[in-house]
Amino acid sequence: MESDIGPMRFFDILNARHLVSDGIAFLGQHAARRPAMALTMFMAGGLALLGAGAAAGTALTRDHLQARAAEASMSRDQAQRELDALAARVGELQAQANRLNALGERLTRMGELKGGEFDFERPPGVGGGMGDVQSLPRTELDNSIAALERQFAASGEQLSVIERLLGEQRLAANALPLRAPIRDSYVTSGFGMRVDPLLGGGQFHKGIDFEADVGDPVLAVADGVVSFAGERAGYGGTVEVDHGNGITTRYAHNSRLVRRVGELVRAGDEIAKAGSTGRSTGPHVHLEVWQDGRVIDPRRFLSQRG
Ligand SMILES: [Zn+2]
Repeated sequence: MESDIGPMRFFDILNARHLVSDGIAFLGQHAARRPAMALTMFMAGGLALLGAGAAAGTALTRDHLQARAAEASMSRDQAQRELDALAARVGELQAQANRLNALGERLTRMGELKGGEFDFERPPGVGGGMGDVQSLPRTELDNSIAALERQFAASGEQLSVIERLLGEQRLAANALPLRAPIRDSYVTSGFGMRVDPLLGGGQFHKGIDFEADVGDPVLAVADGVVSFAGERAGYGGTVEVDHGNGITTRYAHNSRLVRRVGELVRAGDEIAKAGSTGRSTGPHVHLEVWQDGRVIDPRRFLSQRG
């Protein structure tokens, strides 16, 4: 399916690139011309002074020549500085254009944006109709670049928002079904009422337990963002992953945590090392699934995949 951000966006960026490269070509010629003019003046002045020099003495001539040479050198330096400054700004714009291109391509692949949600048909404001760039005065070039910078910044922000929204959609779509949190393992204790393994007596088991050895990689059961990583009373070393749509998973009794809060994890990514911390009789992974603040049976979501 075609994305709505399609050709228009890339056409804009292409145009912008043209404008920028035309501009730098123009400035390059300008800067090249200026030292040349200065040099011509320097030569003409030198020749005139050569005639006068015979009468007025060579010391005076040398002073004038040195002054002219210094002037020419200053003019060249200034032109070079202006060119350097402009080149730096163009470089930044180029980097931004590359970033927007990459982002646009990624979003196009992720695809299927709803029309009308974002205004990508906005007139570009630059590109086309610039006429002869040679006649473009420096201030106008500056203004054009400043306008480009603003436009890139605005486009970048808009694309970032869309990228995030699409990412969230993907998280939700990939959240279920869940994978097992341990490779090649089996369930040692199910969800629901059971005899408390430590105290005896009835106890509600809020998750399911998977057999594991200390140090086994504990895997995220679905894509998500780490929402907790630390100690929880009874649970020991605990990681929690927010999968969006009100669903979170909790992995308990770990010997080591390998992810920080806020990190994005994919299904099957290692998030901890298995262990027997907290209220535990031996190494295993305790997995809980929460939906909208209520604990639910993970088996409702666990797929057959390992
Ligand atoms: Zn358990």
